[in-house]
Amino acid sequence: MSLTSEQLFEKSLKLVPGGVHSPVRSFKGLHTTPRFIKSAKGAYITDEENKTYVDFCMSFGPMILGHQDQEVKENIIRALDNGWTYGACEKYSLELAEFIINKISFIEQIRFVNSGTEAVMTAVRLARGYTGKNKIVKFNGCYHGHLDAMLIKAGSGLAGTAEASTKGITQEIASNTLICELGDLESVKEIFALHGNDIAAIFIEPLPANNGLLVQDHAFLQGLRDICTKHNSLLVFDEVISGFRIGFGGMAEQTGIHPDIVTYGKIIGGGMPVGAVAGKTEIMSQLAPAGPVYQAGTLSGNPVAMIAGLTSLKKLTPTAYTTLETQTKKIATLFKEWGMGHGFSDYNILTHGSLFWAVPSNEKFTNIKHIPSNLNERFHELFKVFLNKGIYLAPNAWEVGFVSLAHDDKVVEDIKNKLWN
Ligand SMILES: *Cc1c(COP(=O)(O)O)cnc(C)c1O
Repeated sequence: MSLTSEQLFEKSLKLVPGGVHSPVRSFKGLHTTPRFIKSAKGAYITDEENKTYVDFCMSFGPMILGHQDQEVKENIIRALDNGWTYGACEKYSLELAEFIINKISFIEQIRFVNSGTEAVMTAVRLARGYTGKNKIVKFNGCYHGHLDAMLIKAGSGLAGTAEASTKGITQEIASNTLICELGDLESVKEIFALHGNDIAAIFIEPLPANNGLLVQDHAFLQGLRDICTKHNSLLVFDEVISGFRIGFGGMAEQTGIHPDIVTYGKIIGGGMPVGAVAGKTEIMSQLAPAGPVYQAGTLSGNPVAMIAGLTSLKKLTPTAYTTLETQTKKIATLFKEWGMGHGFSDYNILTHGSLFWAVPSNEKFTNIKHIPSNLNERFHELFKVFLNKGIYLAPNAWEVGFVSLAHDDKVVEDIKNKLWN
């Protein structure tokens, strides 16, 4: 007899810290057990008990085409037939590099890595190596992966003071990361007045989507661009979520504000582990072996991951983005309508492109300070109702929902049935 998700999780708790290989999968605070997923297809995932859900987690973003896109699958299988990693130059990574560089105007060179974290880690080192400066600025409420330099939060002292947000990070590292508030250009100017000569880069998610959906004003992002230019610091857009999601060129394309370095992840690998750092040749050529900033990866640019990314990105046409936005709006409207009549009338569904965020408030959000304090308490109720109805939201109140091209009208109709039945 096969084990239930609950039994599997119990077993996993003994073998794996917290039962999971990435914390948010643990359903912490949701008063229910994580589901063990055994398969996925299109807009649906199926758990070990054969219950099927409409998936709005989509592996936290990468699966923008839906699960098991036929073309991606066939190309992966074809690539596998030739071998899956050589630790040598190969043609798919060249094709993927060329495809991206031809489409995104401010990118002249790109380096592939294996995750978003690795991309940001490389960007931090590259920014320091290129500018010869030590400090970086990040914003409260932005997530940049789990590298030491980014797991830093605002300290209790003066503006800009910082401390580690997790155990295991030295005070020396924390002291080189300066924290500012999203939307608050003045705080950034103050930090630059104090440390301007030693700031290598400002890092920002130009569409902050890891602590709710905190859409920034154009003027704020432009302000950051101007400050960086003035102080010879680099502007780094972490587009690991927003890249290829909010249009092909991400927020850099949507806003027309060009960063000096951009980081990608999630969608870029079509569901395989890929990340990337990209920018102008002048900066990128600082990376080894062209330049003095070391970076490497045994499995970087392996043919299977590269063909998955390449095939996926080729399908992301302007029409695809229009469709994604239309479907997202339809789904958000459905959720809102259902909530009104079913005890969740306090909820608003914010959207940007094919991302949505359910939040019990009607406010405009640009900063985590705006997030209502009952967010998690309300969310675990919503999450459980949805899960029982066969709708799988990302299992955390601060995570956004991801809509894919597989969430077509048939799926929308199915969501309607699931919600009202
Ligand atoms: C997901 C994410 C990361 C980390 O990527 P991993 O592949 O999980 O290491 C970094 N930055 C942003 C903006 C992300 O959304």
